[in-house]
Amino acid sequence: MRRPLRSSSQSQHKHDHFDVLPDDLVVFILSKLSSSASSPSHFINILSTCKRLNRLGLHHLVLSKAGAKVFAVKAKNWSESAHRFLKLCVNAGNVDASYTLGMIRFYCLQNRRSGLALMAKAAMKSHASALYSLAVIQFNGSGGSKREKDLRAGVALCARASLLGHVDALRELGHCLQDGYGVRQNIAEGRRLLVQANARELAFVIRSVTQSSSSPSSPSSLLTWRAHRYQNQNHACQTDSVCSLSDFVYNVPVPAVHPANWFLREWFESGSGVLGEGLRLCAHIGCGRPETRPHEFRRCSVCGKVNYCSRGCQALDWKLRHKMECSPVELWVDDNGGGGGGAHGDGGAVVANNEAVG
Ligand SMILES: [Zn+2]
Ligand SMILES: [Zn+2]
Repeated sequence: MRRPLRSSSQSQHKHDHFDVLPDDLVVFILSKLSSSASSPSHFINILSTCKRLNRLGLHHLVLSKAGAKVFAVKAKNWSESAHRFLKLCVNAGNVDASYTLGMIRFYCLQNRRSGLALMAKAAMKSHASALYSLAVIQFNGSGGSKREKDLRAGVALCARASLLGHVDALRELGHCLQDGYGVRQNIAEGRRLLVQANARELAFVIRSVTQSSSSPSSPSSLLTWRAHRYQNQNHACQTDSVCSLSDFVYNVPVPAVHPANWFLREWFESGSGVLGEGLRLCAHIGCGRPETRPHEFRRCSVCGKVNYCSRGCQALDWKLRHKMECSPVELWVDDNGGGGGGAHGDGGAVVANNEAVG
């Protein structure tokens, strides 16, 4: 940038210091910033500071390094320029932007083909959440008819995602092996994977609780979960302090929910998007996936009131919330007993697929 012809004031002097920084150095600093920004505004505010920062902030190196939190746009703030920004990041080779925009296009904007292509682009670069999301789509035949379910493809995608450490994928794979769903049945191996998924989840919980007690500010996921708990005053667990792990109910933070999942839920719950008639959202709070056709998701066979896109969501929601809410409707009229949340596999109610029974 050219040095201004006029100088003299002190502020003009400060401006000069920035002007003499070479572009490469500014791009390097902005890349560090975009990868560590804690919110979209944290990064976007820089772009509106001056023309030079706007130009260099949109440099492909800066956009390619942007972290998932830069894409954590609120559904109510979705706009053409937010869409354009995500596209720029995708074009710069940002894998997380591909996944986020893929999820938004597939589920919210109902541009299924383009959404799938973007998720596949991220999956090819070993993005675990993209691999798992594609698995969920294959298992449910989302975006098509139930004949388009491809269980084998779902299992293969889950296997790749679980190798990359995706806990929900590991859990899903464990259930598939136990039940012989899309893969040859191997109960012992399925059980082993479910134990491994629980161990990883427990490690995550311990790490979160340790971090929250050692730092004055709790992680936002823990706060989010508590806030949600207060909206459900009729639950049994109402202690305010963090319970022991054996309670394993409301003290458990939602494990690393991706911003794309929050976006989906907000999109449909805030009215930015409208669910088609008879379609439901996955009941797990950290998911947000909607059905793409009636009776696509499995429902809890004990109460029949909640629906899940996957076993991963069902098992998590069971531990986090549904265990406290689920009651067999039959008990109101028939005192046979039994049921009562029916612990199954790694601790979830038996879930039936609506499509399988009707
Ligand atoms: Zn779900
Ligand atoms: Zn239930």
